[in-house]
Amino acid sequence: MADRDRQDPDPVESPPPPIDRRALLKLVPLGALALLLDGGRAIERARRILVPRHPRPEPPVDPLADEGAGPRRGHDRLHKIRDFDRTFPDDVLIEESRLELLVSTAARLERALQAIGHGNFNLVTFDQLLRYAARYAEIGAFPPAELDFLDEIFHADATRYGFFGDKVLHEQTASFPERDVEKIPASGHYLLRGEPLEKYRRIRRDLGDGIFLTSGVRNVVKQYQLFLSKAVATGGNLSQASRSLAPPGYSYHAIGDFDVGRVGFGLKNFTADFAETPEYQKLIDLGYVDIRYTETNPFGVRHEPWHIKIA
Ligand SMILES: [Zn+2]
Repeated sequence: MADRDRQDPDPVESPPPPIDRRALLKLVPLGALALLLDGGRAIERARRILVPRHPRPEPPVDPLADEGAGPRRGHDRLHKIRDFDRTFPDDVLIEESRLELLVSTAARLERALQAIGHGNFNLVTFDQLLRYAARYAEIGAFPPAELDFLDEIFHADATRYGFFGDKVLHEQTASFPERDVEKIPASGHYLLRGEPLEKYRRIRRDLGDGIFLTSGVRNVVKQYQLFLSKAVATGGNLSQASRSLAPPGYSYHAIGDFDVGRVGFGLKNFTADFAETPEYQKLIDLGYVDIRYTETNPFGVRHEPWHIKIA
């Protein structure tokens, strides 16, 4: 895969501004890009987003403090979450010069996911990740620049991106004791014991086998992988990424929230189409199920009719 990419750097394309062209071409040979990047399309998209046709507009001095919780900010937020997968002028982007760092870090996390396995990756701790990476050549140890980058992402104030959920995990190294989680058969996912597990079992009792767990409890590492691969796909737009994926530490999946889907509905389980299914209607009719990210949620996140709120 990497070899093929190396042979195909698309030498005939007319040269865009030099800094971005150079930086982006350097990204192409990375081995795991195919997994992450949807072929070369993300690179193209990144270039479109990151090569400014005009200088990036200055954001308001402090958009949050400025507008408070007033009607203007509410309107702005709803507008963005309805149109979550496009860019807005005040979106927060990773600097062009650090795009390569973003991609290499995300690619390493993707390789770790492949090596560790999808189920275990939900629970793997940051310390375990570093040990696996150092030990297995197919992942490769995290260089200091990537560790600093991960640190920075974890400690960033997500309200800067326009994400207003709570920070629920404050330690990058958080772990879930084995006794606190239960593996859900055939799902490849885990749920926290107590309310999440009981609620899921009750849903299955009431709705039957046509509904299943599509994502359960997730630790910091899994959230890094999801958030950063989305950040790559958005060309380094952290605001756009955070409208679909909570930044690490901010996912309610870490405190019990879980996602459900309709059997046989595939990836449409993670689109607004899920809200049109009979399973969704039945979920709502149960009366004891709440959706975390409603169409008008205050968190700055797209409508996620599949995401069950706990507490
Ligand atoms: Zn979810």
